[in-house]
Amino acid sequence: MGEFDGRIAVVTGGTKGIGRAIATLLHNSGCLVEVVDCDKQAGALIEKELKGCQFLPVDVSQFAQVQQVMKSIYEKHGRIDFLVNNAGITCDRLILRMREEEWDKVIDVNLKGAYNCMHACLRYMLKNNSGAIVSIASVIGEAGNAGQANYAASKAGLIGLSRSVAKEMAGHGIRVNLVSPGFISTAMTAGLDDGARKAYLSRIPLHREGTPEEIASVVAFLLSERSSYITGQVIDVNGGLYP
Ligand code: NAD
Repeated sequence: MGEFDGRIAVVTGGTKGIGRAIATLLHNSGCLVEVVDCDKQAGALIEKELKGCQFLPVDVSQFAQVQQVMKSIYEKHGRIDFLVNNAGITCDRLILRMREEEWDKVIDVNLKGAYNCMHACLRYMLKNNSGAIVSIASVIGEAGNAGQANYAASKAGLIGLSRSVAKEMAGHGIRVNLVSPGFISTAMTAGLDDGARKAYLSRIPLHREGTPEEIASVVAFLLSERSSYITGQVIDVNGGLYP
């Protein structure tokens, strides 16, 4: 028996990196996982790997697409128990060189994407008066970082969005929290040069990168009844890095 037997979970950006680790852990804990991602190739792979999980090709920044896909998930299962807003991108540039489209793209996926998914899922969670949402923020959204103004703004916005929705939904049995990772080894951080990597690691008290699985286990905790008195919180998972 898994902790989440029979639960329906939607994980955005779930084909790779942190999202993939979250989808895998929820699947192994008994959830029926709906993976929402824009990468069709990786989607086909995860469907093969996690038997019973479904991949849905969606760009989370597109309001109408997201409404449609959440409706189809609800019509198929009659419920949506969990939403994990994990899909995210970076497009780093110093502010004076940052083009308007680079600003818009990051805000559209990281912040508007989470709004789109919450807006579409919450009506179904309200029908059951229960549900849990976890959004993946970032230490950068708390501390800021040179060259990442768009990303930092999107993640700071995500914190404000999620905390506000937590207050709106608290009376309806729906909890909303965030996990804020530090430096986690995925494709997103693979492109860093050795100098930048060393500089990051030197500031981390645990002296290593985190793993996607170390984020996934905290997400699962926040979705579970083990965290039934936690809502509107940001949980830092960053090896001791002080934002
Ligand atoms: P990743 O690039 O490995 O995975 C991101 C996933 O999101 C991919 O599967 C990608 O296809 C999907 N995606 C991107 N744009 C999308 C869109 N418009 N619609 C649907 N899916 C889309 O990145 P990751 O490192 O696993 O990051 C996952 C989350 O964790 C992101 O929100 C990121 O900002 C956050 N985060 C990562 C780190 C880190 O160190 N890796 C640190 C802090 C926060």
